[in-house]
Amino acid sequence: MTASLQRTGHCLCGAVRFTATLAKPEVGACHCAMCRRWASAPFMAIECTHVRFSDEDQITRFRSSDWAERGFCRQCGSALFYHIIDADGYAMAAGLFDDQTGLGFTHQVFIDKKPDHYDFAQETRNLTEAQIYKMYAPPGTEPISDENT
Ligand SMILES: [Zn+2]
Ligand SMILES: [Zn+2]
Repeated sequence: MTASLQRTGHCLCGAVRFTATLAKPEVGACHCAMCRRWASAPFMAIECTHVRFSDEDQITRFRSSDWAERGFCRQCGSALFYHIIDADGYAMAAGLFDDQTGLGFTHQVFIDKKPDHYDFAQETRNLTEAQIYKMYAPPGTEPISDENT
């Protein structure tokens, strides 16, 4: 049976519950300094659409940059998501999902920011900070270099 892309999840304390549709059954890791400070580890996330939260009042949205925010549970502090303000989708924390079967670990971003004390064994698509800025920065802007970590 094919695994469903429509899944549910919740934070550590259960105050935040959600339903979401996985864009793909793929988990990615971000090694940037902000994610690692936030999660103590690379932020493992799944791109999702149609995210519906049970209770928005239980979520704190922290504006971590001009273009994105990070959500966490107001009660237990579980990291919930990374969200580009203008986008519909959410990068939902992979660990929140009730069913974590049928997923592949497929990509790593900010790979050049990964500290030396860990490595993942899987072969994945890896992007550096410069490659990410080249792909996502508005047309005409120069890729930002390494100094802002
Ligand atoms: Zn919670
Ligand atoms: Zn990151």
